[in-house]
Amino acid sequence: METDATGESDVLLQVNDLHKAFGDQEVLKNVSFQVLQGTVSVLIGPSGSGKTTLLRSIAGLEVPDAGTIAIDSVRVDYAQHPGEKQLRKLTAKIGFVFQQHNLFPHMTVLENITEGPIVAQHRSPEEADTEAIALLAQFGLQGREESRPHELSGGQQQRVGIARAVALHPRLLLFDEPTSALDPEVVSDVLTVMRDLADDGWTMVVVTHEMAFARQVADHVAFLDGGVIVEQGKPENVLEHPQEARTQEFLSRIL
Ligand code: ADP
Repeated sequence: METDATGESDVLLQVNDLHKAFGDQEVLKNVSFQVLQGTVSVLIGPSGSGKTTLLRSIAGLEVPDAGTIAIDSVRVDYAQHPGEKQLRKLTAKIGFVFQQHNLFPHMTVLENITEGPIVAQHRSPEEADTEAIALLAQFGLQGREESRPHELSGGQQQRVGIARAVALHPRLLLFDEPTSALDPEVVSDVLTVMRDLADDGWTMVVVTHEMAFARQVADHVAFLDGGVIVEQGKPENVLEHPQEARTQEFLSRIL
């Protein structure tokens, strides 16, 4: 386990021996994965390798069959069939950004961002509004508070989706292919917002095929294939000098 200069452990997320099957298809096989506080981890791998299932499992959106997930001091052991209350302690620490932004179409941009803080976290509407307005400005969306999602471009909608996740003050931000449903010309706006969040010290796990982002922003890259983490480490090692044949083959196909 890594430690910081004070000798304190700075592991934020620890995933151990995670298993998940859909019917008789084993989608995650014994996955172990660690994320250090303030770092960006990128999950790469072919379609169907289990990336989304791993991310959704961390977020409590899928229930693994076995294994443990711990964030800070909250630890869930799936072999023990954890209850709703225990799962909620874990998921309260997570902000999730979906491939499709999943904004509520009938609400304004501001309401989409403040709904979680006000309803789920019982924060005051004034404080939630002030923070949401600041986040919109930070993400290049000042003045769009009263717009409806359909009045925004896909890239703007996704930036609202990120603001909605950040407004919950999670310990960990998870991104599931946040740019893969976007038109190419707006992808960089979203990646810039994500890079700024990384620079601000957010701890992030990102499933993406954007290799330039992985190379430039990630501290850690994990390559999944067939429900197994085949290779992981620093981006310059995994992406530039992969050791495993399966990683080499995948990278040669997409680069
Ligand atoms: P990736 O994100 O790497 O493309 P996924 O985690 O989405 O991979 O999927 C891994 C495998 O699990 C795929 O074969 C997919 O069809 C299957 N799968 C994912 N979700 C479900 C589900 N809800 N029900 C049945 N099979 C699923």
